[in-house]
Amino acid sequence: MTKYVFITGGVLSGLGKGVVTASIGKLFQFRGYKVDVIKIDPYLNVDPGTLNPIEHGEVFVCEDVWIFRPAEGYEFRIAEIDQDFGTYERFLDINMHPSNNITSGQIYLSVILKERKGEYLGKTIQVIPHITDEIKRRIRNVARRSNPDVLLVEIGGTCGDIEAMPFLEAVRQFRLEEPGNTALVHVTLVPYLETIGQLKTKPTQHSVRTLQSMGLQPDVIVGRAPFELPDDVKEKISLFCNVPKEAVISDPDLDVIYELPLIFERQGLGDYLCKILGLPPRKPDEKLYKEWEALTNLFKAPKDYVTIIMPGKYCMITDSYISINEALKHAGAHCGVKVKIKWVETETFEEDPGILDDLIKEIDGMLLTPGFGSRGVEGMILAAKYAIEHDVPFLGICFGCQLLFVAFARYVMGLHGANSTEVDPETPYPVVDLLPEQRKIKEKGGTMRLGGHVVRIFKGTKLYEAYGREFIVERFRHRYHIMPEYAEKAKEYGLVISATDEGGYIINAIELKDSRWIVGVQFHPEFKSRPNRPSPVYLEFIRNVIRYKKSK
Ligand code: GLN
Repeated sequence: MTKYVFITGGVLSGLGKGVVTASIGKLFQFRGYKVDVIKIDPYLNVDPGTLNPIEHGEVFVCEDVWIFRPAEGYEFRIAEIDQDFGTYERFLDINMHPSNNITSGQIYLSVILKERKGEYLGKTIQVIPHITDEIKRRIRNVARRSNPDVLLVEIGGTCGDIEAMPFLEAVRQFRLEEPGNTALVHVTLVPYLETIGQLKTKPTQHSVRTLQSMGLQPDVIVGRAPFELPDDVKEKISLFCNVPKEAVISDPDLDVIYELPLIFERQGLGDYLCKILGLPPRKPDEKLYKEWEALTNLFKAPKDYVTIIMPGKYCMITDSYISINEALKHAGAHCGVKVKIKWVETETFEEDPGILDDLIKEIDGMLLTPGFGSRGVEGMILAAKYAIEHDVPFLGICFGCQLLFVAFARYVMGLHGANSTEVDPETPYPVVDLLPEQRKIKEKGGTMRLGGHVVRIFKGTKLYEAYGREFIVERFRHRYHIMPEYAEKAKEYGLVISATDEGGYIINAIELKDSRWIVGVQFHPEFKSRPNRPSPVYLEFIRNVIRYKKSK
């Protein structure tokens, strides 16, 4: 029978509740329990696919595409999910299913469409019980599908948010229906006031009181603070928030986030949660625990560093590219280096290309980022041009790959004004464009090429050197494509098509033959990178970056 751990947040968002959730999952995995994770996002979007990364952070893409059927006759494709799923996959090393991301949009859509179908005939549709029933049904569906020993359910946002209310109410009902089968972990901020040199517990007390007013008493309180909570602070939180002191857990600032499960384990959180859930007490498996410890040490002790420039358009919040940042860290750690990332907003180059002249000398590699739309794109194309001219190790991801091709077309093949039709619909050389069958699709949500697809890699390429295999599966999220007729022509100038789809119709990767290492991939290898198993293409990129740094 599945046990449930609900994770709520208080005081403010952005406390790293996703990392807490994933770390709790790891504690159960250490004990040999099977774990799955649900993330609830109280916003009204059906999925985060159309959200701006500056507003919401990265959109994560999973391997599977889920056909969401809110009511008979309606279908939506969902593979784009919340960025916390990236954290779960990286910590827990499991592939998550898109139906594990539940949004208010999905819940309300289902209930309203069912009402139109007449499924509730005669009834007034209300938040309680219809919305809360739908929420509980969705949670139990995940338990039924993946049948884990422990299902973690992270509720996005903070308690007290209006849109999160129905979800918290559903949690209350859930706990009533399954006594002894659930635990509630509340993550709050314990701020440090420098002027008086004290950690303050009042915000935690208030947010727990908000939870209590909704009929929810947390079993565990995780206090986010700059350092470990001293005993007296734990005692105070225990007294005021009505939890035993051993259930007040520190969540300090860390250089290496992968260390958090170890910090939780040392505080006895794993055993405590097993007790609350009535799971047979088990000690962590020594081998699994030691392996994780060794892994965190790998991340903590780099011998050297390399600097990579990431010219992009969503640089003001680092969460926009979180999977890329992590994939670079994974690859770096396994090569013994720390990867320093220099994010540069490309609109700055557009105004002053001289900035690039200086930057290009300082850096050891360039990663051109994914993206959409036309803002900042000329700067990205310019950056790719510089990488080609200076022969700097370069990895282009999705949009970054498409723009590498645009730069190649313009500056190597001499196709003046070449572009992607996404950026310039009137370009004389549409080297990146929609496929004919895509032109009739008008809707934006869920209509891209999404999820895991087979990629065929050609032997003798740099990409093949990275993967060492002819067929792989990588994850995609794009609408536009490198046009084969232009790619064929580009071959005469030294461009190599290094991968296609199985049928050879879609171009999945390109590279420059006579370069140190200039590679573009249409897919997003960062979504499959794990701390213990870095993405092969990121690893090969970092190896070349190190080689280049040493050669300078
Ligand atoms: N905007 C481009 C496309 O739709 C690239 C998308 C991306 O970088 N994920 O094809």
